[in-house]
Amino acid sequence: MAELDAIYRDVFEADPTLKADAEANRDIIERILELKDRKNVLILGHNYMHPLIYNLSEEDARGDSLALSRYAAKSDKPIILFDGVMFMGETAKILSPNKKVLIADKSAGCSLADPVRKDDVLKLKAMYPGVPVVTYVNSYADVKAESDICCTSANAVEVVLSLKSKRVIFLPDSFMGENIQQELAGMKKDIEIIYPGKKNALNRGICEVHERFTVEDLKLIREQYGIPKGHPKRAILAHWECRPEVLHEADFHGSTSQMSKYILEKRPEMVFLATECEMAANLAAEFPQTEFVRQCNVYCRHMRKITLNGILSALETEDPEKHEIFVDEEVRLKALKPIQRMLGISK
Ligand code: SF4
Repeated sequence: MAELDAIYRDVFEADPTLKADAEANRDIIERILELKDRKNVLILGHNYMHPLIYNLSEEDARGDSLALSRYAAKSDKPIILFDGVMFMGETAKILSPNKKVLIADKSAGCSLADPVRKDDVLKLKAMYPGVPVVTYVNSYADVKAESDICCTSANAVEVVLSLKSKRVIFLPDSFMGENIQQELAGMKKDIEIIYPGKKNALNRGICEVHERFTVEDLKLIREQYGIPKGHPKRAILAHWECRPEVLHEADFHGSTSQMSKYILEKRPEMVFLATECEMAANLAAEFPQTEFVRQCNVYCRHMRKITLNGILSALETEDPEKHEIFVDEEVRLKALKPIQRMLGISK
């Protein structure tokens, strides 16, 4: 099977130690590819998927959650299988209401999105009447539905500035709220960012993966691998969802797509990515000229619920309750508006 051979080539480039794993799963992967073609399914692969799963998606159908949902909306395939977590599948459904959206495991949650739901938005809105609500796309549909505008980690500051408001409620990521506040201070912009846990008793939304990186970790990596701060060819890149002090220690911070772009444009000889470890595994195949420091053991347990067996089950089953994602139509229409508003100011 030519497609399978191509997948295995990319997987082994990402990590040669995966050969045994890949061979052991040859039958199941063949069956997945066969069902994908027979049922005309678009498989979307988030950057944090295991390479064996990530490479089931066509090259254009790999990336971050919003880009994937937008890509799926333009596709003529009637079925979307989202290899990511639940809120990502919901976003795909919001943008593609007439398509069937499937996920390998409907219990794949997110420590960042789970603690902040509709009632929490309503509480903050009651505390700060008239203050616009900016919601990060890493959130559930019911939260987006109560928001004024969405943002990604790539355009959060741009979106906040577009509102021309002295105060903004930012949900659900508390670290990103702090990071935006600091970025605005650096730009001498006098805007107050209200986020979960800041002057309110809401549960903080924090990514348990990015939370694990500390300044000490980054300093150790610099020392061990010879990555001095500010070096033109060796760099530490951190995701926006990391702690503010980690962003300060890094040489560059950005979204997953901005980190890929940094590597594409600057062609560094060595990088360490302070983000989910599978991202480095997947980018290593894409950028063979760059050495990725693989001193990493930070995986997302929610993303890891997406397994080959789960994917096969989603493609095989006729039971919609098990794998299909539904969003109430009233909520979907309300949630679509803040996404469209964001796309209007930031393409
Ligand atoms: S990596 Fe973080 S933000 Fe992404 S799904 Fe896992 S917990 Fe959520």
